[in-house]
Amino acid sequence: MTGRSEIFRQHNFIDNKWCQAAGGKHINTYCPSTGKILALLPASDHRDIDQAVKAAREAFDNGEWSTYNPVQRGRLLARLGKAIENEINQLAKIEAEDTGKPLKQAQADMIATARYFEFYGGAADKFGGETLPYLNNYQVQLLREPLGVTGHIIPWNYPAQMFGRTLAPALAMGNCVVFKPAEDACLTPIALTKLSQEAGFPAGSINLVTGLGEEAGAALASHPDINFLSFTGSPEIGSFVQSQASKNHVSCTLELGGKSPQIIFSDANLDMALPIIINAIIQNAGQTCSAGSRVLIQEEIFDKVVGELQNKFSNLIAGPHDQNFDLGALITSKQKARVTNYLKNIDESLVLARGKVSPLASSDGYYFPPTLIGPINADHILAREEVFGPVLVCLKFSDETEAIKIANGTRYGLISGIWTRDGSRQTRVARKLNCGQVFINCYGAGGGVELPFGGTKMSGHGREKGMEALKEFSQVKTVVQYYGD
Ligand code: ADP
Repeated sequence: MTGRSEIFRQHNFIDNKWCQAAGGKHINTYCPSTGKILALLPASDHRDIDQAVKAAREAFDNGEWSTYNPVQRGRLLARLGKAIENEINQLAKIEAEDTGKPLKQAQADMIATARYFEFYGGAADKFGGETLPYLNNYQVQLLREPLGVTGHIIPWNYPAQMFGRTLAPALAMGNCVVFKPAEDACLTPIALTKLSQEAGFPAGSINLVTGLGEEAGAALASHPDINFLSFTGSPEIGSFVQSQASKNHVSCTLELGGKSPQIIFSDANLDMALPIIINAIIQNAGQTCSAGSRVLIQEEIFDKVVGELQNKFSNLIAGPHDQNFDLGALITSKQKARVTNYLKNIDESLVLARGKVSPLASSDGYYFPPTLIGPINADHILAREEVFGPVLVCLKFSDETEAIKIANGTRYGLISGIWTRDGSRQTRVARKLNCGQVFINCYGAGGGVELPFGGTKMSGHGREKGMEALKEFSQVKTVVQYYGD
């Protein structure tokens, strides 16, 4: 192919070389704002994954990367963080066009991406093992060692941030990575991989393979020579990849989404709470694992809160990524169909408010108006299932006990928000919530590189971010030494 197609043709990155998929096939990727084709991605399969795992294994066992000490690794990570910072605008443009998110959000995402490399660059030489008290004349050391080759399968919602979130701690600990971004949003991971090459990451330390989940993803999850799998995506695929990895006794972290509650007690500061609550569902058009997708409102203030939310929701506008509307398009026509389907049979009287789609939006884009639903009961499908779109549901509760029961009443347990001025209640409720993160009078969907993040129940297991991620990407070797009488 020549001309236009060449411009759009993307490559895998294996052993420091840019290459096509072994089978020579491609997948199209589209701009969600316009529905137009953006690029051709290698449609890789088990052959490409195998090549990437071999390159990573060689780099880990014998390559230049294996000679790097923690200070050198940290410096390289920090250098990549700086390089990302220097390219924020360019990277944000790519991310916004590829995912449909507003440019200003893509810019914030790039700042967070750079921050992952800054944070783990700084942490690489500060996380070590320990010694244990034991018998007389014995010394016991717990060495913190890298796992080896780590596989990373990520979703399409935050491709750049996920690159930082999952790769930076793995690399900081000295692992070599094989990374498969989602087929619907690969362009920033590819651009970031280019930056990593320029920053000087040695051959085989970072390998990127694009492709369909059922081909490239499945081949990575079931590869016998990976030592660990980091997966973020849907619960169904999470279960599947875990079962595949377990056949080779490979352990995983799984981050599988949520149905996160925002609990508003009657004494809450609503001026502070409501803009944050709205942002927590429209950020990334609701396609955020930790979106605050259920708002639980104490009955005394239910009508007042719903009235204010209705006003605000009716004024929200979805539009093209380059014009910074409140939210952008959904990622694909399939995702739009999924969200539409959730609302298809809803009783119209439960639709409290609908935002708008801008007249500037292309009719070929995948836009969905932000929608406020309620009041619904905790057993309603929209109160239980992750819609992954800009849909906020309102539920009513009478007291603290009922609020906790409803909050914990889904199969998910990712994050929660509590809005109250009562300090004792803040602590009581936070301790009773069954989830991985609790925000009190604030909410950080997707935020905070420093903050350990992960779920309970169907939201998955393992912790990413913060120093906890370094534990996940390393293992302890116990060395027992008898040093004589
Ligand atoms: P979503 O529904 O949000 O697209 P998925 O769980 O389908 O989430 O996808 C998340 C990631 O998992 C993507 O990179 C995708 O390609 C990958 N994936 C999908 N199916 C499989 C599979 N059968 N095996 C391994 N990875 C898969």
